Amino acid sequence: MPTRPIRKVSFIGTGIMGAPIAGHLMDAGYELTVYNRTKDKAQALLDRGAKWAPDVQSAALGADVVFTMVGYPQDVEEVYLERDGLIRSTAKGAWMVDLTTSSPQLARDIHDAAEVEDKHAFDCPVTGGQQGAVDGTLTLMVGADEKDVEPLKPLLESFSSKVYYLGGPGRGQTVKLCNQVSLALAMVGYAEALALAERSGVDQETMLDVVSHGMGGTTAMSRLAPRSLAGDFKPGFMAEHLRKDLGLALQEAEDLGFALPATEAANSLYDILCTVGGSRMGTQAISLLYQDDETGAAAGLNWSKIDEHDHEHDHEHDHEHDHHDHGHHHAHEH
Ligand code: NAP
Repeated sequence: MPTRPIRKVSFIGTGIMGAPIAGHLMDAGYELTVYNRTKDKAQALLDRGAKWAPDVQSAALGADVVFTMVGYPQDVEEVYLERDGLIRSTAKGAWMVDLTTSSPQLARDIHDAAEVEDKHAFDCPVTGGQQGAVDGTLTLMVGADEKDVEPLKPLLESFSSKVYYLGGPGRGQTVKLCNQVSLALAMVGYAEALALAERSGVDQETMLDVVSHGMGGTTAMSRLAPRSLAGDFKPGFMAEHLRKDLGLALQEAEDLGFALPATEAANSLYDILCTVGGSRMGTQAISLLYQDDETGAAAGLNWSKIDEHDHEHDHEHDHEHDHHDHGHHHAHEH
């Protein structure tokens, strides 16, 4: 456990979530250095006085703590485990905190690699969305015991309103994947409720109001169904990231030898959304799968991509085409 006070903080990955979180660390008085693949996305922090690091190694240099909030497990692996990555480049006794939603096994590997180097690394995925990051009210799922990360508590508390200490590396990620499974089913749930109301000629807003006051209501419905209805598909949370999370959850279940059939269905729907051009839309764009082609096209979807995708898939597996149901899951009739 390092006794030196924590002053110098580096932040890698200043995207939708990372930029506001890093801003809260600055507000709390830490000396901030930032690195992001695309420099533009760090500009607001640089304008506020953060230092720029041109690469991971420079971000690691002299930092007491390095936070990472990148996109995918491959990005996490690159940033931590490559030759000039954080595990090698940070100082002895330094802390590394991964906020990305990533694989539990990778989190355990990173933790172990850090220990060997006399450094400390733990997973700390977050929930609460872009708004929670902006407001500094995220919920954190820490893959460690509280006593083992004591010096980090003021930093974690600067951008959260609730911190759960889950007792060991990877457990933060596992709980986060549970959250994502539940979230995905809530998203698909409200999208299908909207579709049923529309086809039945019932006012969708009234339906949402009624359902939100009962057991069928969810936070996903309350916060995101109004955006679906308003045709606002800008990302707080991108569809391709939810697809990544569902893939990780399904992998975890497979490794443990059991099935999550409803998660598989939700994963197929998000896979279709990503294939037809919705990958960088917000997760609320799932409702577009239940709408007509014109509405989808106006929002930026291109349904012909699913046929290209299916054909590629068919060729790969050398399937017969003739009786093959393309399996659009496209909820409307062509
Ligand atoms: P994002 O906007 O894409 O942010 C990720 C940032 O990391 C991007 O700016 C990206 O650079 C940068 N990056 C990726 N790989 C890098 C590398 N190797 N080196 C340096 N920078 C790298 O996504 P986000 O919405 O903030 O999400 C980040 C993570 O948090 C994801 O794992 C997501 O699942 C999770 N999450 C998101 C939310 C949400 O509501 N958005 C909520 C909870 C958790 P570029 O700018 O070049 O792409």
